[in-house]
Amino acid sequence: MIIVDKYVYLFKDGNKDMASVLGGKGANLAEMMSLGLPVPNGFTVSTLACQKYYENNKTLPQDIIEEIYKTIENLEKETKKQFGNKNNPLLVSVRSGARVSMPGMMDTILNLGLNDDIAKSLLVKTKNKRFVYDSYRRLILMYADVVKGYERNMFERFLDDYKQKLNYQSDLDLDGDDMEFITKHFKEIYKSMAGDDFPSDPREQLINAIGAVFKSWNNERAIYYRKLNNIPSEWGTAVNVQEMVYGNIGTNSGTGVAFTRNPATGENKLFGEYLMNAQGEDVVAGIRTPENIDKLKTDMPLIYEEFSDIAKKLESHYKDMQDMEFTIENGKLYMLQTRSGKRTSKACVKIALDLYKEKMITKEDAIMRVEPERLEDLLHKSFRIEDLKEHTPITKGLAASPGAATGAIYFDAISAIKHHKDGEKVILVRLETSPEDIEGMHHAEGVLTVRGGMTSHAAVVARGMGVCCVSGCSDIIIDEESKCLKIGNITVREGEQLSLDGTTGNVYLGSITLEPPVISGDFKEFMQLVSSVKTMGVRANADNAHDAKMAYDFGAEGIGLCRTEHMFFEKERIFHFRQMILADTLEEREKALNYILPYQENDFLSLYKIMAGKPVVVRYLDPPLHEFLPKEESEITSLAKSLNKSTEDIIEKIASLKEFNPMMGHRGCRLLITYPEICVMQTKALIGAAIKAIGEGIKVTPEIMIPLVGSINEFTYLKDIVTKTADAMLKEANLKIKYLVGTMIEVPRATLIADEIAKHADFFSFGTNDLTQMTFGFSRDDAGKFLKDYYAKGILSSDPFKIIDEVGVGSLVKLAIDKGTSMNPFLSLGVCGEHGGDPKSVTFFNEIGLDYVSCSPYRVPIAALAAARSAIKSCDRK
Ligand code: ADP
Ligand code: MG
Ligand code: MG
Repeated sequence: MIIVDKYVYLFKDGNKDMASVLGGKGANLAEMMSLGLPVPNGFTVSTLACQKYYENNKTLPQDIIEEIYKTIENLEKETKKQFGNKNNPLLVSVRSGARVSMPGMMDTILNLGLNDDIAKSLLVKTKNKRFVYDSYRRLILMYADVVKGYERNMFERFLDDYKQKLNYQSDLDLDGDDMEFITKHFKEIYKSMAGDDFPSDPREQLINAIGAVFKSWNNERAIYYRKLNNIPSEWGTAVNVQEMVYGNIGTNSGTGVAFTRNPATGENKLFGEYLMNAQGEDVVAGIRTPENIDKLKTDMPLIYEEFSDIAKKLESHYKDMQDMEFTIENGKLYMLQTRSGKRTSKACVKIALDLYKEKMITKEDAIMRVEPERLEDLLHKSFRIEDLKEHTPITKGLAASPGAATGAIYFDAISAIKHHKDGEKVILVRLETSPEDIEGMHHAEGVLTVRGGMTSHAAVVARGMGVCCVSGCSDIIIDEESKCLKIGNITVREGEQLSLDGTTGNVYLGSITLEPPVISGDFKEFMQLVSSVKTMGVRANADNAHDAKMAYDFGAEGIGLCRTEHMFFEKERIFHFRQMILADTLEEREKALNYILPYQENDFLSLYKIMAGKPVVVRYLDPPLHEFLPKEESEITSLAKSLNKSTEDIIEKIASLKEFNPMMGHRGCRLLITYPEICVMQTKALIGAAIKAIGEGIKVTPEIMIPLVGSINEFTYLKDIVTKTADAMLKEANLKIKYLVGTMIEVPRATLIADEIAKHADFFSFGTNDLTQMTFGFSRDDAGKFLKDYYAKGILSSDPFKIIDEVGVGSLVKLAIDKGTSMNPFLSLGVCGEHGGDPKSVTFFNEIGLDYVSCSPYRVPIAALAAARSAIKSCDRK
């Protein structure tokens, strides 16, 4: 319970769970003190006081000021020093500290409580002129900067000029007289800016400093940071007032920062830096080059030992890697801060795993320590950091598919493929992509498009393939004729190097060195923990051997969606497929399909082999046929020639396939109903592959998925063709193989009649891309343009194509599950839309009881982690 009329807390009265009142820094200082660690004494003015400050017209209410004065008296007793007493002065630091660590807030003021008289007597006491005036000049500068908001520059320039005049290399060359002289000048600069003298009353200094911290809660930088990180502005900040300890009192003193483990790699080894004879943030300010913490071992072995013991103690107390600040005063160590340290994704995984192995945290804790999206950083090629630093982006598009790519640019798929086959790394640059480009995209390291949003063809396909993609890069002008692209006055020609960062959307000139992803070592071990906890399955969407292999390696428990149409685009097949589409008679069509059959059978067989007994769901032909036909006139002419037809005929046929709204047109099961022979061919290929796989000792249960079903008769008509074809083959082979026939639930009507469908279907796989498109009535390909207005105006809070719309589309999914399972309790339930790889959506799917999600191979570990975390959370709730 919070006692409302208390605003100031001594460190000894707080603890780590009081961060909402004391701020993170204050709560942890209190905690360290209660652990018996050497922490300079002090008190915290609470976040409630901050709220009062704002309610009281941005001034500290008198009763709070009184409470502060009273607490100072307590602190004086504890420290046996007195604030403002020149014979035994208490000097303090004033430090901001919100509930969560927040850069952009006010900086720290050190040595507060000094004035001319106190400086003089302190000099008599310490006989260390350099120390006294080094402290004093720092106070004046920090006070001017922080409380008054004056430019530090004025002071810093004076100091630089002074050092230069005397030919000093570093601050260490400044002696006591120099410091005294600088202090005098700093006071003059202060007066010239403020009009008044630097305040000599320590109490005035203190109250102004505390007010300044509260005020800084609402400075522009802080507001911006809060917005970015969803930190409520009502929280307010706390202020810590703490007895000073001096790292600048001689060569036996110093200050430093350290992490209990390496924040970049996670390595379990003290990591940090320090500076002797220095104060405050000299270490990070770059005034002098700090020493590696390892050197402290030889410089001050006892201090090092004490510090590393404290580090261990803090880490096991907080059960997490700590980021600490310390100061050494005359050979005595003081702890000034601790908090859970920020870390890279790689370190995040390693530390979580190591803490589990060290038995500091449970398996579940370890899993909850890693946000699913963090894994993304570990799953793609990335630019080597040192090399990236040498490059500046020339333009920026949408970060459509993460990863990094570098290669020679080509403007069409055919050239990209050709050059890739010649051993070159290529980047495909297109105005926008279409299914025709898929093979080219596969051969490319990265894809760059001028048009198209986050769910454009390029973006979706590239993400599925794990190919890096920057889309919608509208600054680019492609000059097809002279085969170059222009960005402002920069021209890049075909074959020249470009680098893309699909994680940021940045585009760079030239090539940048890459580092590859692998799931090995700690990452692999961590994923084993994840698998042992999660209950929902995670499969992958994979259309070919390459993707299937990747899915397998990334831990997919099967293929949840194999889009067969992608198999038709490869070289020899596309001709026969076009021949099939353009056929005038059934015989012609069947002949063409017969050419394709063995290819398709082989494709399926290779998937079965790679997945080694894991389930593979094959979706029958889905996209509208026009997507398979050539667009360029020259291509049309040559196609006509090879087909022995007239160009006019072909043009007419292509025109006849044109639809106003192809996404709601002749596609999915509708195509198969018009051309049942396609359904027959695909069944022959799949069952044929299964027979062969079984012959090779692989366990398979073919899963046949009919797309876009909206009425029961669509499904039963096609299921009938499938079973007749399959059963005949199996009979002939004298084999009994179980196979499943199911459907993709992606038309809203299908969810409403899910019970009817479930009577006949073995499984449902929710195609949430189309289901979202049709439920909202938003075209996937165009909605990006106006959805941004929706986000800006708060109509929608997120992209429904990325994060499942739980209330609307999600309700339909739930409805279909309820209806479906009421009719068929053995119905298997999955999701194969893009949402299957989105952590928030995966959590939802886990909660509503789906058997599995299926996502692009690259997102399998992310989905698995999200599923495991959801399983842990629902266990906690029980
Ligand atoms: P930040 O949040 O920017 O890190 P801090 O409040 O932690 O600011 O202060 C920065 C540095 O100032 C500390 O790391 C420490 O070196 C120094 N400092 C703060 N308080 C004291 C103190 N009481 N005695 C000595 N040094 C201090
Ligand atoms: Mg700082
Ligand atoms: Mg700090």
